[in-house]
Amino acid sequence: MAVKNYGGEFWNERVRGLAPYTPGEQPRNRRYVKLNTNENPYPPSPLVIEAIKQAADDRLRLYPDPECWELRESIAERFGVQPEQVFAGNGSDEILAFAFGAFFSDKVLFPDVTYSFYPVYAKLWGVPFECPPLNDDFSINPDDYTRGRLHAGVVFPNPNAPTGRSMEVSTILSIAAARKDRVVIVDEAYAAFAQENLSVASYAAADANLLTVHTLSKFASLAGLRVGFAIGNESLIEGLRRMRDSFNSYTLDRLAQAGAIAVMKDRAYDEGVTRKVIDTRERVSAALSSMGFEVIPSDANFVFIRHPAQKGADFFAYLREKSILTRHFNNPPRITDFLRVSIGTDSDMDMFLEACQESR
Ligand code: PMP
Repeated sequence: MAVKNYGGEFWNERVRGLAPYTPGEQPRNRRYVKLNTNENPYPPSPLVIEAIKQAADDRLRLYPDPECWELRESIAERFGVQPEQVFAGNGSDEILAFAFGAFFSDKVLFPDVTYSFYPVYAKLWGVPFECPPLNDDFSINPDDYTRGRLHAGVVFPNPNAPTGRSMEVSTILSIAAARKDRVVIVDEAYAAFAQENLSVASYAAADANLLTVHTLSKFASLAGLRVGFAIGNESLIEGLRRMRDSFNSYTLDRLAQAGAIAVMKDRAYDEGVTRKVIDTRERVSAALSSMGFEVIPSDANFVFIRHPAQKGADFFAYLREKSILTRHFNNPPRITDFLRVSIGTDSDMDMFLEACQESR
């Protein structure tokens, strides 16, 4: 889509200086096999849909609970923490935006290849940032976050995006321990898709400076509902609440709260869906490797791959022509030959693999 070049004559300096994030394409007028935004290919739990329908009644004339108390209780129960250690927000992006504003000031560190919203938030709040490069195999070098550079906050996803590589719990805890004077945020958007339990949420509840951020967009198949949450000690949760109540007290509407509560109570459903996604990811990774693709080992609901012969942009365009949407990044240069491919249903992925086979 062509971007209009507005004059922006009424923009203030703040808006002029923004460098907004570009979300993955949501096509409107053509059917694609949609493997570009890491949505879950399976529907949400039927109990979630039922709970949202039940909440759609005349109570909608009333504001929702700004503290999302019942939801926080249900999250706390599922994660084995206290409701006071949980914050709920309008997608994890909103929570990350609040967290950057609330906890980072002099400097924040995040990898050179990671979620591309982090530099946007840092610029929004005027926080200087430094991006230690990933190792050649795209793993994070923990030393970059434990040595030197005191007085810097840290944020990274685990598993990392768009690489899918994860870090061990003990390594994360050592980073948090080494940076006691600043907040370490672990973005666990994709943690549910790991083979082993990667979450440090229960440690975050007890630690002073560790915060985990979660989303229902991926494991709970609810990208359209916009619900995220964070787990940390009460003082960090209060910091997020202060940010929220300086913007908009009612970030989660009644339907979203009702649906999210139902997610927490139907764990067996999303665990079953997650198992299917993991099995498909393993099958697809093995098939791509045997075709000669470079496949970064993934613990997420996507794979990060390099075609044996084609440039990333060309392979992206070829797949798009075949009605398969994936994600290509122009930056940084070291990842421009890779594509990030979300794991779809088995039949989606069979189509994708067939196109890969034909492209060689
Ligand atoms: N963190 C990471 C690493 C992500 O990839 C995404 C999805 N784009 C998010 C956070 C945001 O998820 P949401 O706002 O849908 O909760």
